[in-house]
Amino acid sequence: MSISVVLFTSDLRLHDHPPLRAALDGTEWTVPLFVRDRAVDAAGFAVPNRLAFLADCLRDLDTGLRERGGRLVLREGDLVDQVGKVAAEADADEVHMASDVSAHARRREEGLRRALEAEGVRLHVHDTVTTAVAPGAVTPAGSDHFAVFTPYFRRWSKERLRDPLRAPRTVRVPEGVGSDPLPVRGEVRGLSEGLAEGGEEAGRTRLTAWLRHRVSAYEDRHDDLAGDATSRLSPHLHFGTLSPVELVHRARRAGGPGADAFVRQLAWRDFHRQVLASRPDAATADYRARHDHWRSEREAGEDIAAWKEGRTGYPVVDAAMRQLRHEGWMHNRGRLLTASFLAKTLYVDWRVGARHFLDLLVDGDIANNQLNWQWVAGTGTDTRPNRVLNPVAQARRYDPDGGYVRRWVPELAEVAGRAVHEPWRLPDDERAGLDYPDRIVDLAEGLTRFKRARGR
Ligand SMILES: Cc1cc2nc3c(=O)[nH]c(=O)nc-3n(C[C@H](O)[C@H](O)[C@H](O)COP(=O)(O)OP(=O)(O)OC[C@H]3O[C@@H](n4cnc5c(N)ncnc54)[C@H](O)[C@@H]3O)c2cc1C
Repeated sequence: MSISVVLFTSDLRLHDHPPLRAALDGTEWTVPLFVRDRAVDAAGFAVPNRLAFLADCLRDLDTGLRERGGRLVLREGDLVDQVGKVAAEADADEVHMASDVSAHARRREEGLRRALEAEGVRLHVHDTVTTAVAPGAVTPAGSDHFAVFTPYFRRWSKERLRDPLRAPRTVRVPEGVGSDPLPVRGEVRGLSEGLAEGGEEAGRTRLTAWLRHRVSAYEDRHDDLAGDATSRLSPHLHFGTLSPVELVHRARRAGGPGADAFVRQLAWRDFHRQVLASRPDAATADYRARHDHWRSEREAGEDIAAWKEGRTGYPVVDAAMRQLRHEGWMHNRGRLLTASFLAKTLYVDWRVGARHFLDLLVDGDIANNQLNWQWVAGTGTDTRPNRVLNPVAQARRYDPDGGYVRRWVPELAEVAGRAVHEPWRLPDDERAGLDYPDRIVDLAEGLTRFKRARGR
């Protein structure tokens, strides 16, 4: 009797799952396993919003497996120990899992390989489970990764993607391998009120609706803050309830400029992963040092607090920061302008902002978060590292009628039109009636400080 273990990590789905398919094709019995890795908790990565979404994902995965005659086995503890234990309990010959790029994931994979091999169990690691194109599959001459997106995208676009795999019909799980109870969203404290629902079913429903009704407008509307016209698929991509390979195939089939623009964003996701795979230190260290002497947390403490709480006095910044707190998600344009405001206008270390985002974002992801923060801070892969986004100009352009600000900053709900972006310009009597903070920084002063710091 041949038995395998499928270790689910950031790939919590049944559709288009190469490790599961390989396990089912190669062995008669399979143990679908998820380990609540204590090291992830210890690193401060297990925050309420992602724990709640994860709980949804695990329940949904278990339901999907049960519909196919199987079940999910959940264990908690050190991942290497737990996989070894389950493999021994099931008397498994092989373990299948997806490859991943973070330093932690790669150390873990190595540890697991050694521990399993010592017991005579083979570890199979599968690419293109959590990315459309594997990190390292396309490289420029003379380097192990692309440092600039446009040439990467050109090569990425020419790669032939494997065909998506169907969800299995049947999963046969051996008796006698016990599971810890699955977590429940309702037991997680401190969630964002407007947190989205997790799970493969919710992800697939959202994807189908997105491709049918909304992707065609994506190219024109993706930056429209009030229009909320992006896919909101990022948490599903982060937890792997949707497959990037399948997404690219389906979006290409939908076709048109909107779908093309959407596919380009999926390539950004792969781009950051191939950077992190080659430079795992970029999760914490500057990818390109600019010799910054950031304002210390002591010096900028009040500014940082105002930024986190959405009371900087710049309405579009405050709106986006409040959306983050309320939903555990923020529009990409909001992420760009709030990050620029912190790292450049306030000249605070990008790591402070990245940590706050990771504390709240349901899609909070080491590759995408840290490398986007670095991109904005000018220490990353942006070819114009010293550009500074002016929040008022951004607001006028991407929230022209002020609908986004009025939605998230109720103190300004009565201010009509684009005047909402500059409450300091309102007539004194009107301004005095608003319970809204004064600006914490003068934009021109912030810009001068930043330029001086960067030697410009
Ligand atoms: C400072 C900052 C921090 C960020 N932190 C994260 C993070 O922790 N996790 C995360 O998934 N994304 C992050 N992003 C990227 C981007 O903002 C989100 O992926 C996007 O807003 C998610 O919304 P959506 O699913 O509606 O995106 P859509 O516009 O519908 O795009 C589709 C998918 O493409 C990918 N994508 C889109 N933009 C980017 C990008 N700039 N870089 C990489 N992938 C992208 C995402 O997987 C996204 O779900 C960050 C961006 C910035 C500027």
